[in-house]
Amino acid sequence: MIGAGPAGVAAAVMACSLNLRTTTLDAGPIGGKLHRISALVNVPGSWTTGPRLAEALAADLERLREGGRCTVEQGRAVKVSGHDERAELTLEDGRVLTADTIVVATGVTDLAPSDVEWVTAAADFSAPPLWRATPQELTGRTYVLGADRPLGTWLRAHPDVTTTLHVLCPPTDRYKAAEVEDDPRVRLVPVSHVAITKPRYGEGWTVVVTGQDGAETVYSVTSILSNLGNKPAALPGLVTDEDGYCPQDQQHRRIRIAGDLRSARYQRIVTAQGSGAEAVLAYYYDIALSRGGGGR
Ligand SMILES: Cc1cc2nc3c(=O)[nH]c(=O)nc-3n(C[C@H](O)[C@H](O)[C@H](O)COP(=O)(O)OP(=O)(O)OC[C@H]3O[C@@H](n4cnc5c(N)ncnc54)[C@H](O)[C@@H]3O)c2cc1C
Repeated sequence: MIGAGPAGVAAAVMACSLNLRTTTLDAGPIGGKLHRISALVNVPGSWTTGPRLAEALAADLERLREGGRCTVEQGRAVKVSGHDERAELTLEDGRVLTADTIVVATGVTDLAPSDVEWVTAAADFSAPPLWRATPQELTGRTYVLGADRPLGTWLRAHPDVTTTLHVLCPPTDRYKAAEVEDDPRVRLVPVSHVAITKPRYGEGWTVVVTGQDGAETVYSVTSILSNLGNKPAALPGLVTDEDGYCPQDQQHRRIRIAGDLRSARYQRIVTAQGSGAEAVLAYYYDIALSRGGGGR
């Protein structure tokens, strides 16, 4: 399994239950994006925050590891490939691991301003992510670049915060903003373009906002948070669609895709878990059993 977010861990748990030898690799902490979710409302089992669920998933992997059923490795995958008799994974440190099959569950990764057409920013511009911001850090007027879903999560996690978030919202994010547009703490600013430069004097940023009617407004901004959304964390060797996602039916039969990497449409924890388990079952019935492999 590449990736130990909800999809990769569910895949590992299913594989171990079928007596398949399993290695789980992740470049970061077990739990993936769960560590960013401060308020959870749609996961069965009374889970109310992502980090607590991540802790439980890490404990699951640790139990499997202690039982000798699963190896857990820290490292970054840089390439995968499928072959007639095996699948191969290349790591950043140059090692090549082989397996009967590889489940790729690397999820999605943050967009930077240079990734989106509606933002032009100075080379030294960087903005901390909204999901990590604490209410104490919101000093003065706070602008948010983009209306991706972490906005709703952040507002739910901080019900007592009264600060207004000025959210620069391009047409592509409009449907995502629907869940927060009635929240009095959100001022949605429809934009077609945003240009961010360093002011000639003083601190902060000069932000030139072009509205959807073409009118320009210039703001002097001290606090900008990034909430631009994400892009698929596809690895070289995978087949991608026009949006960069990795549809299963276009991959080599020894490569399985699970979780958020499949499509922009199913980016939820429970669907990620289901797809991780299914990826392993598909391998089990297509390849392992046809070879006379064991299992339950
Ligand atoms: C702020 C926020 C709030 C959210 N709120 C909710 C919610 O309330 N309810 C809900 O259902 N969903 C929510 N989601 C979505 C949910 O987090 C994802 O759908 C889910 O985590 C996807 O699981 P995954 O395993 O596919 O990917 P991820 O959780 O992204 O895990 C991918 C893992 O792969 C690892 N990885 C990536 N590339 C490599 C590489 N090259 N080599 C090795 N490892 C790699 C990463 O380190 C990561 O651990 C939210 C997401 C965010 C960002």
